[in-house]
Amino acid sequence: MRRENARLIALVLLIECRPPITIYKQLESGAHAVGCAGSECGDSNRVVSVTYLGVSGLLIEHERRVLLTAPFFSNPSLGMVRPRMTRLLRSTPRIASDTLLIERLLPRSADRATAILVGHGHYDHLMDIPYIAIRRATKSRIFGGPSVRHMLMGDSTLRSNGGQRVVAISLAEAGARNRRGAWYYTTDSAYRFMALVAGHAPTYRALKNSYLFTPGSVDVDLDSLPRTAAEWKLGEPYAYLIDVLSDDRKATVFRIYFQDAPSEPPLGFPPTEVLAERAVDLAVLCGATSSNVPNTPDSLLKVLKPSQVIVGHWEDFFRQQTLPIQPSPGTELGELRESLTKSLAPSVPWVMPLPQTTFRFRETERK
Ligand SMILES: [Zn+2]
Repeated sequence: MRRENARLIALVLLIECRPPITIYKQLESGAHAVGCAGSECGDSNRVVSVTYLGVSGLLIEHERRVLLTAPFFSNPSLGMVRPRMTRLLRSTPRIASDTLLIERLLPRSADRATAILVGHGHYDHLMDIPYIAIRRATKSRIFGGPSVRHMLMGDSTLRSNGGQRVVAISLAEAGARNRRGAWYYTTDSAYRFMALVAGHAPTYRALKNSYLFTPGSVDVDLDSLPRTAAEWKLGEPYAYLIDVLSDDRKATVFRIYFQDAPSEPPLGFPPTEVLAERAVDLAVLCGATSSNVPNTPDSLLKVLKPSQVIVGHWEDFFRQQTLPIQPSPGTELGELRESLTKSLAPSVPWVMPLPQTTFRFRETERK
């Protein structure tokens, strides 16, 4: 057995053998709640609602117009997706969307989505999207990096009509700290969003060893969708700035920062000048593996200065979300809490919600 394989097995065993804990109630900062309730929310027709769907899935709704991020419900077991570590172990099994679970867990309002944003190509961000886009959110376009598009072209329905439902955002169009990226608009002009060049934290890290699950890009259109977890490649990781637009489509009424993987700073930071134009109302962060990159998420939060924070992708996504919810093997609750406390003012609330929790937000100042 090669030495790095032995190390990987030791890391996996170390992390997987921790005793499970069940989370019955959302963890939150305490002093103030995230979102608004009742009359605090102002005109109920103008409320921005954000439902945490589990993993990196969000359902954002404003004036009945819907945008989705990386919906994923199939949650195959770790045994089905773990990397092949030695020739002695059998190869990674085939995985596929659990369409019954999707139908049970994806809210009906998702059918009105005009856009689905995805940050990278791993199976837990992309595998359920073909079913959802074809059977449910049939008017949606899917946005991601070039590898995301190349993999989705493996689906014959998405490939039809020139594959126009899947939009590849090139690295040149994505923003970075010192470079403004391109704004994309949904077909109903209810939202605009900018991709941000990001990274992806190592999947495992212990002592001096780290391991990243299925890195690499896909550079040509596939003939069929990937069949194993290892075939859903990382691709080009992006975070997004998402602006909810006013009903006349001229002003931003709410700004969301969304990441579906923690990045090594300053990757994933929005352009300084775009942040100066309008503050971030809500930051949605990835909890899993955030302690595998230094100063994360505190350095990002110091730049974003969000008014409120939701920590997503924290729960164990190797088990169905219909079972009691446990933290993911890669989520270090103590370190995450410490990082949030270090970077956020006491007046800024954060929450680690249970899947299927909806938060309501009042529109903020129009800019
Ligand atoms: Zn990933």
